[in-house]
Amino acid sequence: MTGPASGNGNGAGPTLNAEAIRAQAKTLGIDLVGFCSWQELEAEAPDYDKPSQLSIYLTRLIVLAKRYPTGVARSPDAAFRQYANGRVARHLEEAAGGLAYWLEQRDAIACVLSATIPDLRRQPMAYAGPGGQGSLLLRQAAAASGLGTLGLNEMILTPEYGPRVFLAGVLTDAAVECGQPLEAELCPGLQECGRCAEVCPVAAIPSSAATGARLAEVRGLDADACSRACQPFGPDRMVEHLADLFASKSAAEAVEIARSPATQQIFYNLTVQRQGAYTGCQSCQLVCPVGADYAEVDR
Ligand code: SF4
Ligand code: SF4
Repeated sequence: MTGPASGNGNGAGPTLNAEAIRAQAKTLGIDLVGFCSWQELEAEAPDYDKPSQLSIYLTRLIVLAKRYPTGVARSPDAAFRQYANGRVARHLEEAAGGLAYWLEQRDAIACVLSATIPDLRRQPMAYAGPGGQGSLLLRQAAAASGLGTLGLNEMILTPEYGPRVFLAGVLTDAAVECGQPLEAELCPGLQECGRCAEVCPVAAIPSSAATGARLAEVRGLDADACSRACQPFGPDRMVEHLADLFASKSAAEAVEIARSPATQQIFYNLTVQRQGAYTGCQSCQLVCPVGADYAEVDR
């Protein structure tokens, strides 16, 4: 804690409005800031991710987005992109923590909703959305707060940066005004675009639809398949690696597996690059033409 936390759950002081919070978030390096009613997400949220399980008195969710550096998005080196963007996600989470402390110094109560550190007591698997963008709940919150709309594969698309953003959230009792969802979809749909479905290495994105079908009827994602592509050295790979090790037919074979590059990659993902463990595939985000940044990304 960096200062006195005097919030009492009865609402924050009068100086805490959306503009003040947005300005502070920008000084912390956050690119987009939205506000929504936390409880309004309850009905649509999956059982494992109901907002009421986290808090019933923190009524607002401040949705925070940080963009990819364009230089990272344009790099042809997938491993470099994975780890460089993992750092971006880490910086966002640190900034979200800074914003939560700033709110508590102003008589609010606040806590951080991490995008890439899933709560395995509640989530069915360690999955942080396409490219590590953020949980489905955070993506829905971003849409509810007017930061963007969901694309064909349920990634959030923003007018400024398309899907090339990471999400985090701060829950608070500061009674700030909520945003409104955008009026029109940013994604033109499978038949008008479909680029994300074309490049997905594991066919996790719908690739066929009835003629004239609305985006809402087609939108979807095979989250299991996407998680394996996004987490090449994540929990599933670690279990497979350990299973291979335990099934070794000789000590020499076991040592060979233990000393393999896969062991080093898993160790690195576990200890150093925790957010980078979720950013192994971002192909759909790199080809998506939505966003004012796309002209630079695609040059
Ligand atoms: S392209 Fe990659 S990140 Fe996008 S949905 Fe497919 S596997 Fe997931
Ligand atoms: S790549 Fe095209 S179809 Fe996919 S989310 Fe972006 S705009 Fe929609």
